[in-house]
Amino acid sequence: MEGTAGKVIKCRAAVAWEAGKPLVVQEVEVAPPQAMEVRLKILYTSLCHTDVYFWEAKGQTPVFPRILGHEAAGIVESVGEGVTELAPGDHVLPVFTGECKECAHCKSEESNMCELLRINPDRKVMIGDGQTRFSVNGQPIYHFLGTSTFSEYTVVHAGCVAKINPQAPLDKVCVLSCGFCTGFGATVNVAKPKKGSTVAIFGLGAVGLAAAEGARVAGASRIIGVDLNPDRFETAKKFGCTELVNPREHTKPVQEVLAEMTNGGVDRAVECTGNINAMIQALECVHDGWGVAVLVGVPHKDAEFKTHPIHFLNEKTLKGTFYGNYKPRTDLPAVVEQYMAGELELEKFITHNVTFSEINTAFELMLKGQSIRCIIHMDG
Ligand code: NAD
Ligand code: ZN
Repeated sequence: MEGTAGKVIKCRAAVAWEAGKPLVVQEVEVAPPQAMEVRLKILYTSLCHTDVYFWEAKGQTPVFPRILGHEAAGIVESVGEGVTELAPGDHVLPVFTGECKECAHCKSEESNMCELLRINPDRKVMIGDGQTRFSVNGQPIYHFLGTSTFSEYTVVHAGCVAKINPQAPLDKVCVLSCGFCTGFGATVNVAKPKKGSTVAIFGLGAVGLAAAEGARVAGASRIIGVDLNPDRFETAKKFGCTELVNPREHTKPVQEVLAEMTNGGVDRAVECTGNINAMIQALECVHDGWGVAVLVGVPHKDAEFKTHPIHFLNEKTLKGTFYGNYKPRTDLPAVVEQYMAGELELEKFITHNVTFSEINTAFELMLKGQSIRCIIHMDG
């Protein structure tokens, strides 16, 4: 890899040229990393619903042509000026929300919303110089979430890269780069259910199943999965859900159904749908006096949260989180070690594997609700 440092690399990337149209796997040019940036060789990437939302661009600001992708694992190819904590050959996970380690947020124990590198889906260029590092015949191709991992090589800010144990299997720990940590952390770091408590999980995709895994590890006695799609229920049982509710099968609002099942409300609710109704239901279904609801789903850009303020007076708490409140550089290496020690079962999240040239199949599987995580192998 030494030979490529400082030079433009020509490689394959899956370019999203238009909303909702299949990605085109084609040759792109990837410029060398500038100050505080690193260029990564991506080995595995997987598809998360956030990629699909920005590709469909129905509820989000359209930005095209763009290289999507943010859940991935790879190896550092070269580093730009000023990068001291990463070197070529390091095994890494890129993360869509970074950690500069210098701002007030990074210095606070409570926040992972780095001032400089927090998630910004509207940003389409590098922070340093406002330019893209990708091009096709001189035409700039925009970045996505600071990661753009649907490319054999990508350039990211060094603050968005977690260096991990080189023994870790990258085709598995790749899911820690977004989906798993988002859901798992939302439960264990934010909702913080006590042992024996009742937890409702809205949305049983990868993020919700990871949230359920968090509830199981935290010792919840009841984990109630809520989803409009009953196809998700069999899988959800394997992830520790003890009861399952399909709001469509009830005439009463699901908040009331849950209140009846739990003698007044659940202790914790974690919303992992992106649907505004589910977000409101998650707050309203928690028990008064102590219930906490945590929002994780990415809402439609015009969504508004409407509820009666009496819920707050009745001492229900509403919170939200990006990336499960994990600080990517500080916390992720330890999550990888938890997996290596056998405490986390990442394998059960990986339902499909495809080659890079078949990346559109991963989109089809997700749109049909058939996959939890589909790992895309960049070498194929
Ligand atoms: P997914 O599409 O695989 O799963 C979502 C599930 O929610 C589906 O099973 C769907 O049937 C269900 N659902 C939709 N509307 C519902 C409703 N009203 N009531 C009950 N269930 C409903 O998605 P995913 O990959 O698991 O991601 C879940 C959400 O998390 C998405 O909105 C995604 O953008 C978001 N996300 C947030 C962060 C973060 O840091 N906050 C990070 C990654 C993903
Ligand atoms: Zn910071």
